[in-house]
Amino acid sequence: MNLNLQQALKKYYGYSTFKPGQEDIISSILAGHDILGIMPTGGGKSVCYQLPALLLPGLSLVISPLISLMKDQVDALNELGITAACINSGMESGHIRSCLVEAHQGNYKLLYVAPERLASESFTNLLRNLPISLIAIDEAHCVSQWGHDFRPSYLDVSPWIEQLPQRPVVAAFTATATLPVRADIIKLLNLVNPDVYVTGFKRENLHLSAIKGVDKNKFITRYVESHPEQSGIIYAATRKEVDSLYELLKSKGFAAGRYHAGMDKDERHRNQEDFLYDEIRVMAATNAFGLGIDKSNVRYVIHHNMPRHIEAYYQEAGRAGRDGEHADCILLYAPGDVQTQKYLIENSELSEERKTGEYKKLQNMIDYCHSSRCLQQYILNYFGEIDAADHCGNCANCGQEFEITDVTVEAQKIFSCILRMNEQYGMTLVASVLKGSKNKRILELGFDKLSTYGIMSDMTLQDIVDLMHMLEAEEYMVNSGGPYPVMRLTPKSWPVLKSKSKVLVRMPKTPEPVLPESDIFDLLRARRKEIAVREGVPPYVIFHDSTLREMSSRMPRDQEEMLSISGVGENKWKKYGRQFLEVIRSYIK
Ligand code: ADP
Repeated sequence: MNLNLQQALKKYYGYSTFKPGQEDIISSILAGHDILGIMPTGGGKSVCYQLPALLLPGLSLVISPLISLMKDQVDALNELGITAACINSGMESGHIRSCLVEAHQGNYKLLYVAPERLASESFTNLLRNLPISLIAIDEAHCVSQWGHDFRPSYLDVSPWIEQLPQRPVVAAFTATATLPVRADIIKLLNLVNPDVYVTGFKRENLHLSAIKGVDKNKFITRYVESHPEQSGIIYAATRKEVDSLYELLKSKGFAAGRYHAGMDKDERHRNQEDFLYDEIRVMAATNAFGLGIDKSNVRYVIHHNMPRHIEAYYQEAGRAGRDGEHADCILLYAPGDVQTQKYLIENSELSEERKTGEYKKLQNMIDYCHSSRCLQQYILNYFGEIDAADHCGNCANCGQEFEITDVTVEAQKIFSCILRMNEQYGMTLVASVLKGSKNKRILELGFDKLSTYGIMSDMTLQDIVDLMHMLEAEEYMVNSGGPYPVMRLTPKSWPVLKSKSKVLVRMPKTPEPVLPESDIFDLLRARRKEIAVREGVPPYVIFHDSTLREMSSRMPRDQEEMLSISGVGENKWKKYGRQFLEVIRSYIK
């Protein structure tokens, strides 16, 4: 290992070792090569350009798509004692000018800007006279129309670089890059003979699971209840669903928030901040939430609806566990999500060719939900890692967190009831007939005379509905969709009715409640919160959870021991070290 690089990593960041790929990427940049770095979320991309920026002379420019992301990064850099600033459209022109003057005087090592800024003439004129050593382009897949976050202004980045009097090193980073996107990034950003580093998409700390046929709201309520101290995101497909999830979570007394494009800007901003500052524990959101979320201690991401493709899923789910600690990524599947996505593709403006591509990606996503293979391997294969191990030992499929239950008899009862009702009624009415409900409509329609009336009276109505969802997810029956959906059987149900095949379903086991954190961890966390409020930065910018956890288990008692904790660099020691030592000392007493 290059000792100087390692020393710099320890001094500024407090880390003793590089994450995979970091050291090679940094060495390439320092040797003057363009690079393309493809690393998963949480892989540590920021260090890959920040450390060279510190070691190279002059200024480094970072092009980043979102204001909140830039602000977070700049806060974090300032906490590390590194001079950095960002310029964005939310700032007043006087403030922007003074930032540019500071940059011009050489007072910053890093300057973050959105790609749109490059169109500003005054900005370009000022920067043209500055020695820029490095241009780092974050979320570089935004340049590609094949990616899912296409941002036209990324196309202006390369011409802008080319007009500079001296071409700096260009380093592009992304977490999501299928082969066509990768080729697009190199071409459209005009990277010159780049060194390409793909560190792999594996995220060992993520616990993946896809769960079918459960009552989603009940599942989510139970999960949030059993993970009370943890931060999480629940993604839903539509604003309406986000609103109703939010109401549900609030009604249960959880510190919940919501985020979608239909809310006014101030409320959205406030909610995002409250989430970053740990005031809001669980956020119900559409996919509008997240690209700018650098929060490292998100402990779970639950998808209330299936996204359109694996790229989007892995990116959203990947917002959990950036700090490398255990995190849950749960996808709740229902066949209705497939109909929604198909509808959206069909009614999109995409060309026929692109639509075909989208349908193929959708099918891969559906297959993921039904797969009994290792889920991590499934995703890694999807991203082209064909030699990924077939047993990660961590996902729900590897861990066999399901109970296989034989529900053949119950399924036969349900199927024959649907047939006796001529396949013309919805799920709840069928379940009510099986339950033996005295509902007026049932009596009016004469369904109390059916031989299947009341044959499942020993189960609750909700359990019958849950089972029907499961049978639907397993494609024994379909929901016709539309405003008055009715349940119909598929050919897969026929052999079951004739007792020629069995129905075995995988029911998820009840989620394990998390153990409460240790007292000392809670005390350190409380101290972190006080400091965060005082400093006006999110708590994880002061120290990550993982750093506090290491402090709780090792209980450092002096400067030397404190500096050996991962995440405690020199600047943080100077600023905060004693305040945390104090907590530990009085706890030991
Ligand atoms: P990405 O941008 O790739 O999603 P980040 O740059 O935000 O990832 O890094 C993810 C987390 O890993 C951050 O909390 C960062 O401080 C931490 N990290 C980065 N490099 C290292 C390292 N060498 N050792 C330990 N933690 C690291």
